Amino acid sequence: MTTEPSLPRVVVKPRRARPFFARHPWLFVTSIGRVEGEPGPGSEVAVFSHEGRFIARGLFNPRGAIRVRLYRWDGGPLDEAFWSERLAAAVRLRRDVLGLGGPGAGFRVVFSEGDGLSGLTVDRFDRWLVAQFTSLALFERRALLARLLLEQTGAEGLLSRPERGTAEPEGLHAPEEVLLGTLPMEPVEVIEHGLTYGVDLKGGQKTGFYLDQRDNRRAVASYCRGRRVLDLFCYTGGFALNALRHGGATSVLGIDSSATIIEVARHHAVINHLGAARFEAADAFEVLEALRTRGERFGVVICDPPKFARHPRGVEEALKGYLRLNRAALDVLEPDGVLVTCSCSGLVDRGLFADVLGQVAELSGRPIQILEQRGQAPDHPISASCLETEYLKCFVCRVG
Ligand code: SAH
Repeated sequence: MTTEPSLPRVVVKPRRARPFFARHPWLFVTSIGRVEGEPGPGSEVAVFSHEGRFIARGLFNPRGAIRVRLYRWDGGPLDEAFWSERLAAAVRLRRDVLGLGGPGAGFRVVFSEGDGLSGLTVDRFDRWLVAQFTSLALFERRALLARLLLEQTGAEGLLSRPERGTAEPEGLHAPEEVLLGTLPMEPVEVIEHGLTYGVDLKGGQKTGFYLDQRDNRRAVASYCRGRRVLDLFCYTGGFALNALRHGGATSVLGIDSSATIIEVARHHAVINHLGAARFEAADAFEVLEALRTRGERFGVVICDPPKFARHPRGVEEALKGYLRLNRAALDVLEPDGVLVTCSCSGLVDRGLFADVLGQVAELSGRPIQILEQRGQAPDHPISASCLETEYLKCFVCRVG
């Protein structure tokens, strides 16, 4: 494989090259034997095995624990044509395979490693894009990427928002800024399963809306007929509103700790003519305790907490948190009720999460049957070469 002689080379340690031939995109500093040349922040590099075999082209970050992110295995350069084709492939998946798009559509256009673009996430809300750069090198190429994205999607503007937790591992301090085009002053109207949401691109959490739960919000509704539904960690009300609109729930109560978000959820109930929905700002654990004491019971309880594990060393604590939460959820669930329990901690895999449910069954003395093991919507594709891209678990369970 020929590469330009001037290109800095990164040589992988002996016996460490296998995952990178297998197209895993994260080359950690601990796997690097030596660096030849002087790559700066964001520089393109060629990665070789210890024996001198070319592996891939990547981008270098001297401050990153992920020292090189790999993008291309065929020897070609990481030039504009390459980024353009990668983005085009991502756009084609959503448009041609998944059929997503049109006025009011909300979907993920680029899912980082899932789309071979490690360090870039882009969501589309109607005519606008919201990007999160989690790699320094792609952030340095933001002007180019923003231009290509607008060209390929026909969007009117692109907002870049910082992602919590990139400063330390990546040395990246991305400010919130409009990179190209213009943004609307008002929340953007997004329609999902016939329900209208006002998505606040700047003020909302993450990119403004949790698109990964799209299909689960609709699927869970079908378990709600004639039942009282408790939607814990409800954000702007998605699960609760679907339960009323599509599921025929008798009542829904949504709980979120953010008072601002609860105001938005209430507004969504009004604009969707679902005035029966109740939303309260409170801590989910405290609410569970209060409901239990009052003897209130629900036919369906939905738990969709924020990420509990951010580091491998946090997994033990996270598992304890899931155990405590789901144990408490069962206390307010009727016999023969449906528990919908989610985990968006990528470090907690399906097996570990199912083990937690086994422990909940043991502690509560109630049988738990897993009816569906759902995951992230397909506009968040899982890369077979980087299974860390699978992060969302959504288990639908019947509890005796
Ligand atoms: N189910 C939602 C997404 C939930 S995101 C949807 O479909 O859109 C997780 C939510 O949990 C966030 O809105 C956050 O504000 C909320 N949250 C975090 N800690 C909480 C707590 N202790 N009690 C209640 N809500 C909490």
